[in-house]
Amino acid sequence: MPEIVRSVKGTRDLLPEEIRLWQKVEEEARAAFRAYNFMEIRTPVLEHTSLFARSVGADTDIVSKEMFTFEDRDGESLTLRPEATASVVRAYIEHRLFNEGGIHKLFYLGPMFRRERPQKGRYRQFYQIGAEVLGSDEPETDVDALEMLHALLVMRLRLRDSRLLVNSVGCPRCRPSYVSALRHALENVKDRLCADCQRRSQTNPLRVLDCKVEADQPIIATLPTILDYLCVECREHFDAVKRGLDERAIEYQVTPRLVRGLDYYVRTTFEITSGALGAQNAVAGGGRYDGLAELLGGPQAPGFGFAIGEDRLVLAYGAVEDRAGAEDLIYIAWLEESSLRPAAELARELRQENLRVELLFHPMKFKKSLAAASKMTATFSVIIGPNEASTGRFAVKNMSTGEQEPVERARIADYLRAKLKELNH
Ligand code: ATP
Ligand code: MG
Repeated sequence: MPEIVRSVKGTRDLLPEEIRLWQKVEEEARAAFRAYNFMEIRTPVLEHTSLFARSVGADTDIVSKEMFTFEDRDGESLTLRPEATASVVRAYIEHRLFNEGGIHKLFYLGPMFRRERPQKGRYRQFYQIGAEVLGSDEPETDVDALEMLHALLVMRLRLRDSRLLVNSVGCPRCRPSYVSALRHALENVKDRLCADCQRRSQTNPLRVLDCKVEADQPIIATLPTILDYLCVECREHFDAVKRGLDERAIEYQVTPRLVRGLDYYVRTTFEITSGALGAQNAVAGGGRYDGLAELLGGPQAPGFGFAIGEDRLVLAYGAVEDRAGAEDLIYIAWLEESSLRPAAELARELRQENLRVELLFHPMKFKKSLAAASKMTATFSVIIGPNEASTGRFAVKNMSTGEQEPVERARIADYLRAKLKELNH
């Protein structure tokens, strides 16, 4: 027997059983985006490697060690996208969307690829749901996008124990003075930091703040913070963002050492974490990237965006509400050959009414038929025997309480809908 071929390490199949949660999360995301007038964009999974090297930054973890990069047959270097902001901005430039003027609000859903060590909540192919606002540097733009994200995660999907961590990472005018202060402070402590941080102290000191090594944390906590170095414009922008969040009653924590793992961020950066997750507790992250379009050869176009880790969101959502999106199933039990026809008619009608209905054709004894209904976790069974067929009233059985009620044939759809509504509240 030949050996079976398995899926690639860090990738996984999403089977019908769990796909319900994914669809529910995506439905809610689309509804939230629609409410805020964001339009969908789909960009290719495959991009030129230089796109990410130039935008995300050559010395970031993503570009230096996590990308799936390969040489194409013609010698060109291609990469499976590790994130989508760079692609969206590339498309914005390539199709000259900026010529239309105004603000572009875009969203995307899809797989991303990073060659990380697989563990719960961390995969090599994972999924992001993200949004970008291009063409506005207003702090209210940041606040509005954060409000939308809050509406989606907290109000719609009831993400438990979530925290919004915000910071400003300044701009190319004020950041250099902070970076040199940081470099200076690192001189004294870098021998006690991990090997990666010793290297970062030289190449990209900001990245030290993003270090995940436990032993480094107390030392990192003593380093200077960027908030003491912001220029007037960046400080005003940050104050306005905080004020806007206060006005909209969105809670947040200023986290002065929060930097993101991508070089293109300026000013506002943020992360959303959830206590419903384990070690990989970051559900979403994002911020402002005013210089990115220019960096990619486009016109000046300030931007703000975020990406939600859908795998982690689904994990948290499933834990909070494992019935969420579980669509109630109606099982139709028929008892004698003569009841099969009325059963099939009823099934067809209920299905036209958008209910989820199962009808098995294999003849079964009553008990066995109801056992089948339980096995497929039907919420209600409708029982059709010779009696029911003659009286025009079918028995509807609540499968969890065992209660049974005769219901007029014509009223069954309404009856089920009302009961389901009650149960799901
Ligand atoms: P982390 O610190 O957990 O590595 P990150 O800062 O690298 O996250 P971003 O690049 O900001 O993540 O991506 C946004 C979101 O995408 C993260 O908050 C996370 O939910 C999700 N994400 C990132 N990498 C992975 C991965 N390998 N597997 C699953 N989800 C991921
Ligand atoms: Mg990462």
